[in-house]
Amino acid sequence: MGSPLVAILSGAGISTDSGIPDYRGPNGLWRRNPEAEKLVTYEYYMGDPEIRRRSWQMRRENRALQAEPNAAHRAVADLERTGVPVRVITQNVDGLHQLAGMPARKILELHGTARSFVCTKCRKRGPMEDAIARVEAGEDDPLCLECGGILKSATVMFGERLDPAVLGEAIAITKACQVFIAVGSSLQVQPAAGLAGVAADHGARLVIVNAEPTPYDDRADEVVREPIGIALPKLLRTLSEES
Ligand code: ZN
Repeated sequence: MGSPLVAILSGAGISTDSGIPDYRGPNGLWRRNPEAEKLVTYEYYMGDPEIRRRSWQMRRENRALQAEPNAAHRAVADLERTGVPVRVITQNVDGLHQLAGMPARKILELHGTARSFVCTKCRKRGPMEDAIARVEAGEDDPLCLECGGILKSATVMFGERLDPAVLGEAIAITKACQVFIAVGSSLQVQPAAGLAGVAADHGARLVIVNAEPTPYDDRADEVVREPIGIALPKLLRTLSEES
């Protein structure tokens, strides 16, 4: 038998040590601030140039693009390098798994990425830095250079659907894996949260690493409350020694 497939579902909690706050969770910054939430809600964004102007200012000031991966991101990349088959399913848009050295093809970004922009009309994408540079040069609401369409960050906004291909692949991996580790996720935002239940239903060993209780704790084989930066490297080292 080969090494077991390990699926790692990561949420906001894995990136807090990198200085990125929880924006999107049930108690995240956006949910607690309705004005801020409008900036990331598709309908408001598409309908109001003033919302777009403020969104671009927010992206410009967003420190997530300058953030560095931390010990937990590096531990995931290290596990992959030992030859254990690993797939990352992430609710985060910060791109820190990739920066830590995890191959991009082994990462599913359920909520997209803040490191790219996308045209809402022709779907052309490019580096977020390019769009930010246009904002810094004085454009309030930079439009697509190909088709004149409205540009947005390549993240899934409130009111937008998750990419069905990405979600389908995440479900397939969840069903196929032998170990499913949910780390830094409150497991309250669907459909990502439901993956923990799918993993347990299909016989995976379910491990939850999170500071706060989650709705899936009673289904888990192991619940770890230690800080993620300490707990995850320890846990993944044990896994690579076992396999
Ligand atoms: Zn376009």
